Amino acid sequence: MRHEDCLFCKIIDGELPSAKVYEDDHVYAFMDISQVTEGHTLVIPKKHTINIYETDEETAKNFFGSVPKIANAIKKAFNPVGLNILNNNDILAGQTVYHLHFHLIPRYDENDGFDYKWTMNRDEYSQEEREDLAKRISQAIE
Ligand code: 5GP
Ligand code: ZN
Repeated sequence: MRHEDCLFCKIIDGELPSAKVYEDDHVYAFMDISQVTEGHTLVIPKKHTINIYETDEETAKNFFGSVPKIANAIKKAFNPVGLNILNNNDILAGQTVYHLHFHLIPRYDENDGFDYKWTMNRDEYSQEEREDLAKRISQAIE
């Protein structure tokens, strides 16, 4: 369950302080120390799992099942205009803590501290090419 050198396992066990939002048998939610926007919350499974690749289905269900109620609580408490939910896996994607976590980031305006950019390549792929891409993934599902 617990990983000895893991920052978030230590937070779950109360060995390191956190500002707790919610806890049950499977989930722990607390304020991100960086507060990218006000109310920025991390939701983590109590079972140590490095990232999404390592997470078994049962853990994922138990853990993600609590995300909507925490999202609704953020909405009620902070009255944001929007909410981004973000999960970074591996270095290039920005993962810095190797215990699965989802960021719940309430949004207030375009310059509120959270930013992301992605390109829309709708015209770069034909339907056939998209189906080939889909097949590569569906054939890899175990
Ligand atoms: P990642 O970059 O892995 O997606 O997100 C890790 C997050 O953990 C960052 O947003 C960072 O601010 C947060 N974080 C790192 N150390 C601590 C800590 O000791 N306490 C809390 N509450 N958050 C932390
Ligand atoms: Zn851990």
